[in-house]
Amino acid sequence: MGLETLFGQSYLTTRIDAVLNWARENSLFPMPFGTACCAIEFMGLVSAAFDLARFGAEVVRFSPRQSDLLMVMGTISYKQAPILKRIHEQMPEPKWVLCMGVCACSGGFYNNYCTVQGIDEIIPVDIYVAGCPPRPEGLLEAIMRLQKERVEKQSVLGSAG
Ligand code: SF4
Repeated sequence: MGLETLFGQSYLTTRIDAVLNWARENSLFPMPFGTACCAIEFMGLVSAAFDLARFGAEVVRFSPRQSDLLMVMGTISYKQAPILKRIHEQMPEPKWVLCMGVCACSGGFYNNYCTVQGIDEIIPVDIYVAGCPPRPEGLLEAIMRLQKERVEKQSVLGSAG
C-alpha cells in the first residue's frame, strides 16, 4: 500500500488482493476439530496467557460454514475420517488447514489398523505443527507463518499465489 498526495489531500493506493488478504489474515475464524489431548493445549492458546486474540484469530467457531481455519488436533481414526472430510468440504473458500501434533500429522505412536496415518490422507494441509503436544508458542508461530506464507499470498481469483 502506498500513501500519495493529490491536490493537498492524502489517499491510499493498493491492490484488491493486498487489502482483502490483510483483512483475512487478521480475522481468521478457527474451527477446532479436537479428538484428544492436543485439544487441551489449544485451550491454553486461546486463554489469557497466550492470547490468540493478539493475532486476530480468537473468534472460535464450531460451525464449518462460519470458519476459514480448520485446526485438527488429536488422533483421527478411519471411522472419523469421513466426518473430517465432510466438515472440510462444508467450509467456504478460501480456507486453510492447520494440523496440530504428531498424531494428526502422521498417526504418531498409534501405528495401527484403525488410525489414519496423517490427515493429509483425507484433506489438504497447509501447515503442520510438530510435538506431543505442541506448545502454544509453536501454535502461535504456525498461525503467523500461515498468515504470511498462505493467507497473504491468496488471490481474489481463487488460487494461492
Ligand atoms: S500428539 Fe500427543 S498430545 Fe497430541 S493427541 Fe497425540 S498423544 Fe495427545
